[in-house]
Amino acid sequence: MITLSCNDITVSYDDVVLSSVSFSLEKGSFLCIVGENGSGKTTLIKALLGLVPLQSGSVVLDKHVSVGYVSQQTLQQKRFPASVLEIVLSGCRSSFPFYTKNDKKVAKHYMDLMQIGDMGKRSYSELSGGQQQRVRIARALCAQKGLLMLDEPVTGLDPLIARDLYTLLKQLQNMEDITILMVSHDIASALSYATHILHIDKTVCFFGTSDEYKNSAYGQRFLGGSEHA
Ligand code: ADP
Repeated sequence: MITLSCNDITVSYDDVVLSSVSFSLEKGSFLCIVGENGSGKTTLIKALLGLVPLQSGSVVLDKHVSVGYVSQQTLQQKRFPASVLEIVLSGCRSSFPFYTKNDKKVAKHYMDLMQIGDMGKRSYSELSGGQQQRVRIARALCAQKGLLMLDEPVTGLDPLIARDLYTLLKQLQNMEDITILMVSHDIASALSYATHILHIDKTVCFFGTSDEYKNSAYGQRFLGGSEHA
């Protein structure tokens, strides 16, 4: 079953940034989008979300699916003046601005899953980078039905904290049956957690399973030259 299909999309700002990009995301998979800086990863995720216009092509989302999105965090967002619970609940869009009992139950469920269940009253701005990311993921989980998209969620985190976050994402994929699409510059980690890899450089260089990627000429060249090799 296909959760999302991206059909031959082209996106331009001043120049063409993405050209003829096609891939599909199977339900329950964990796709990592990798590539060099400036290769178009963030633009692609924004195009999938409808945040940048397509010059051509289409993006089709399964009609039963809603996306929860974790963007790259800006400095201002790190200082956002709200409690953890307020931020997580704001992902529950059913009855905003009034939250129902069910909203609170859903928020608690995802806070527990993200291991921030006891932090509801704490001020978001005072949390560590890793804790803040868990809060942002819990918020996106409240907003999703079946698909979570994340843009470089471990940037700036120390390696052990990053590993814990990847492990939590893997648990979400397995236990909650959530399809995951994640942009990452960390190819070595991506390969340990992802089921599929999409490697782009303005267009698709490789799309397939993680094992196929490891054995592909493209994957070997990229991994061999990376700092994680
Ligand atoms: P990545 O996420 O792989 O680092 P991006 O999608 O951020 O790549 O950027 C791809 C290219 O698009 C880069 O050359 C970047 O400078 C350009 N770009 C990104 N956003 C904009 C924008 N809002 N306006 C013009 N050019 C942009």
